[in-house]
Amino acid sequence: MDAVRKEVESLKDEVIKLRRDFHMHPELAFKEKRTAKIVENYLKECGLEVKSGIAKTGVVGILRGKEKGKTILLRADMDALPIEEMSKIPYKSVNKGVMHACGHDAHTAMLLVAAKILSHHKEEIKGNIKFVFQPSEEKDPGGAVKMIEEGVMEKPHVDRAYGLHLGNMFPCGVVAIKPGIFTAQADRFSVRITGKGGHGAYPHTSVDPVLIASHTVIALQAIVAREVDPLQPAVLTVGKISSGDTFNVIPEYAELLGTVRTLDTKVARIISKRIGQISKDVAKAFRGTAEISYRFGYPPIVNDSSETEFVQAVAKDIVGTEKIMEAPISMGGEDMSYFLKKVPGVFFWLGSQNKKKGLDKPHHSAYFNIDEDVLPIGVEMHVRIALDALSRT
Ligand SMILES: [Zn+2]
Ligand SMILES: [Zn+2]
Repeated sequence: MDAVRKEVESLKDEVIKLRRDFHMHPELAFKEKRTAKIVENYLKECGLEVKSGIAKTGVVGILRGKEKGKTILLRADMDALPIEEMSKIPYKSVNKGVMHACGHDAHTAMLLVAAKILSHHKEEIKGNIKFVFQPSEEKDPGGAVKMIEEGVMEKPHVDRAYGLHLGNMFPCGVVAIKPGIFTAQADRFSVRITGKGGHGAYPHTSVDPVLIASHTVIALQAIVAREVDPLQPAVLTVGKISSGDTFNVIPEYAELLGTVRTLDTKVARIISKRIGQISKDVAKAFRGTAEISYRFGYPPIVNDSSETEFVQAVAKDIVGTEKIMEAPISMGGEDMSYFLKKVPGVFFWLGSQNKKKGLDKPHHSAYFNIDEDVLPIGVEMHVRIALDALSRT
């Protein structure tokens, strides 16, 4: 067993303890005060330079190696979700209606223990490691973009960035990774249509927003079908139509809510523009008006191909070739994308599912929990990525 593996094994209880503590005390986006304080104190005890209060509750630890060199960034997100935990576990959430249902408790714990181990290797490190503990991944606009605005990529300047996300859709210890696009851009929009209410028996005295909404839903489908390059994946879904109260009244208003998923921000921009134009023009054609609001989500994550190969090589040593798989593109959004727009790097899934133990509930489920055997694997991935990335530069 090599030295790093031994150190990781010796800290297995510590990473579990930290994770359970975070799990029991989950905090919502930009309110991760208790979590941030624990992170700050832990990093200080490891002898790192620590900056707190970045993007409200974000914390950054800097480990400067003995020799000068490049700087890499390792990222963990800290926020929980507004979900009431339903599992009966001893470390169940004590904060009513708040739960770590995505694994960010584990992300934080794993990166802390990795920082501790790496601090023991300071003498052999050429370059710097930035440990970034980010607030608010779940709630758009997330913490990543704010941390970047507040200078997290500078002083010292970051050259590469790496992050991982536990995945209950993959068996424990599987590393699911792919070069190129990794997650989608997930946007939302609403169209508010104004007509003129009246009696259902006298439509000629009204302007019917239900009819306008119906035409609008159909017309919007032409955007993906007729205006987006067929080689560019895109989805436009109207998931909600609301209007009216009863059978014989023409209402005043109608509202459509929908989502757009794309793998390229440029395509999302085209679609957003056309949703606006078509909705307005359709409403006008039927004597009504439409107001559109379009909210861009996180941009897609794009993994650098040579960094993907590098992380695959690291993973091969830790989990073995048989546990490395090609990840499917996720249609969900993740704000790690902002770091990876600035510098080359990788984001990957680390499987945390164990069907035999009943730990296979999906992310964001009120019964979500992970196989804690994944925790030392995640720690080792962080440590080895950092050591190997800096030793090759
Ligand atoms: Zn999530
Ligand atoms: Zn997440």
